[in-house]
Amino acid sequence: MSQKQKVYVKTFGCRTNVFDSQVMMSNLEDFDITENESEADIIIVNSCTVTNGADVGVRGYINGVEKAGKAQVYLTGCGAHTKGASLFDNKKVFGVFGQSEKTKINGLLKEKKRFYELGDLNFVDDTIVEEFVGKSRAFIKIQEGCDFRCSYCIIPFVRGDSRSMDEAKILEQVSTLAINGFGEFILTGTNVGSYGHKEDRSLASLLKKMSQIRGVRRIRLGSLEPIQISSEFEELLDEPWLEKHLHIALQHTSPTMLKHMNRRNKFSSDIALFHRLSERGFALGTDFIVGHPGETEALWQEAMENLKRLPLTHVHAFSYSKRDGTPSATMKGEVNGAVAKARLKELTQLVEQNNFDFRNTHANLPLDVLIESEKEGQFHGLDQFFNKIIIDADQDLVGNWLQVEQYKVLKGGNYAKF
Ligand code: SF4
Repeated sequence: MSQKQKVYVKTFGCRTNVFDSQVMMSNLEDFDITENESEADIIIVNSCTVTNGADVGVRGYINGVEKAGKAQVYLTGCGAHTKGASLFDNKKVFGVFGQSEKTKINGLLKEKKRFYELGDLNFVDDTIVEEFVGKSRAFIKIQEGCDFRCSYCIIPFVRGDSRSMDEAKILEQVSTLAINGFGEFILTGTNVGSYGHKEDRSLASLLKKMSQIRGVRRIRLGSLEPIQISSEFEELLDEPWLEKHLHIALQHTSPTMLKHMNRRNKFSSDIALFHRLSERGFALGTDFIVGHPGETEALWQEAMENLKRLPLTHVHAFSYSKRDGTPSATMKGEVNGAVAKARLKELTQLVEQNNFDFRNTHANLPLDVLIESEKEGQFHGLDQFFNKIIIDADQDLVGNWLQVEQYKVLKGGNYAKF
């Protein structure tokens, strides 16, 4: 029987935290990892602090563990930077450490002493591979942190300024994965489009180098900012390996709201960019926050009018949620929750209809599909436009690339039989 202490890692928040948790677990050589929270001697809380609600969730979890009274709690993740000090001072947690300290976790826990190590917000991770999904898709983290200061966002304060991973390392990693059969690569980071800005490198040149690696079939990009779409990048738009879908974060379409949000994009240039990309055959997605303070009915109407002019096929929309410590948290003109919810619905319905129209207009094109999962005998995949397709088939298709020529365009996604 192992005498090692058992550690349970509780992960809150985004994919970056999932990645950090994995790195921590692989470094805990003198401990056993358990997936059963109730048998843990130590619980590492990898926290998220993106909204006040996220903080409440983390605090509630820590209180619950305290009540159960068995495990010792350590706090890491973004919340270590905002709530770590008070939780540590109030003895709610035994230790606090920042993301940069995650590979030292084995030594920190072995000391069995209370510690508070926030570490360095400028560290560059040398673990690049983020996550593998299925058999053919790899997430590659190419940068971390953000130099923007959007009014509602706490991320730069807890993840630091933008810095990029080493290019040679990224390419080496992609080559190894491609040899092992990975065909689709998804580049991720806090603000992917700022890759290389400080190092005199560019995203476009990284993409070109990646595309030359044998086995790289499709490259997808995380969220880009409009001002990061350079002419060098636009020269790549016809390349067959670039996904025919871009996700460009606008966050709003009312010029006044963009100012309130301290965004760097301007609607007049955003609309020109979106039309230029759409004319080149791209499906286009965006992030959008509804109900940010100051969003009056008139500004919302203006935003909707502008949204209708955009060739937008995908949207990742949220209702604004307050985050203390950000400029937006003290802004006047709060929007009632029910109003924000109704606006969110209006926006989502508009984009769903656009997406349906887009798929109908492009129904003559064969779809290049990578099958990612299977649910109840049906296979789910994504095509080159980042649209979902469900395929009925008798054989296991997970991990396969398919050219689908015959399919039905339905409201909720495309559908085919194989
Ligand atoms: S660009 Fe994104 S991560 Fe950076 S401050 Fe704005 S919302 Fe936050």
